[in-house]
Amino acid sequence: MRRERSSASSVLVTGGAGYIGSHTVKALLEAGYDVVVFDDLSRGHPEFIQGVPLVIGELSDERALSDVFTEWKFDAVLHFASESLVGESMRNPDKYFRRNVAGGISLLSSMVRAGVKKIVFSSSAAVYGDPESVPIPETAPLRPLSPYGESKVFFERALLWYDKAYGLRSVSLRYFNAAGADPSGRLGEEHDPETHLIPLVIRAALTGEPITVFGDDYPTPDGTCVRDYIHVSDLAEAHVLALKALSEGLETTALNLGTGAGFSVLEIIKAVEEVSGKKVPYLIGERRPGDPAILVAQCARAREVLGWSPSHSSLREIVETAWRWHSREG
Ligand code: UDP
Repeated sequence: MRRERSSASSVLVTGGAGYIGSHTVKALLEAGYDVVVFDDLSRGHPEFIQGVPLVIGELSDERALSDVFTEWKFDAVLHFASESLVGESMRNPDKYFRRNVAGGISLLSSMVRAGVKKIVFSSSAAVYGDPESVPIPETAPLRPLSPYGESKVFFERALLWYDKAYGLRSVSLRYFNAAGADPSGRLGEEHDPETHLIPLVIRAALTGEPITVFGDDYPTPDGTCVRDYIHVSDLAEAHVLALKALSEGLETTALNLGTGAGFSVLEIIKAVEEVSGKKVPYLIGERRPGDPAILVAQCARAREVLGWSPSHSSLREIVETAWRWHSREG
């Protein structure tokens, strides 16, 4: 039996128990959407679910997916569920192509069968690889350096063909470095193992165990890598705006989500020291294979197309909210 829900627009969020997915569920609920989460909980957290229906399942399980589309009627899908560790993808590409590509295509098949024709996709700056110039526009060549990035490019390209053949319109949102946490302190970044810089720098401040800076001989002002950090609540807002834009007829597109400003690894360490009042011990190590020196977004298109601009992404706010989240039991 199909459950007809309230007159509000109804959306399926794959990976809604994860870091960016759960922050987006919060923003969707605040914007009045009805939300159902589909998540296998391999990386997601049941405590991030926020009272919406949770279907536990894998994207490769077409039966489970088709049951979801039979039980509920959706206007759109937001697709976050994905493996997302660049290093792991180099060692185990099979996992990335099976889960991100095959799993994603299984989702698209179910959408086509159910007649759901709008999708917002979690893409990544990893689609660009080592850019020729920064800031990076959306028109830059897609030359990923890892199976993770390749899986995102593949899915973006598949989406173009699903539009041509089935009229499925999409917005691929290419995140730069997602960071920070919801100000409520109830949602935040919780990866195991954690590989991301800001949580690791905060951990070093809390434990006194040094963090390793991956290389200090890059062609950047202080020799360490520069990244464009964007607050997860700003990413969440962009998804809500992308959904609205699709409902208003936006054509399939891909948009960068970043701030346009870059910070070095050493600047991040300094910001954490300032916010926490603690010293961050660090060592200088080897470069991490595949790390470009500078990744900064050109983000004018997201502003033009969605009317989006980041409002929580000062480095101070990112680090303060992340610090509050990670030190909540400290
Ligand atoms: N980084 C580092 N030490 C760490 C983890 C990360 O120096 O223990 C650097 C990494 O080389 C990159 C930046 O911090 O330049 C951000 O890395 P992260 O893994 O957070 O995101 P990525 O840019 O790889 O998506």
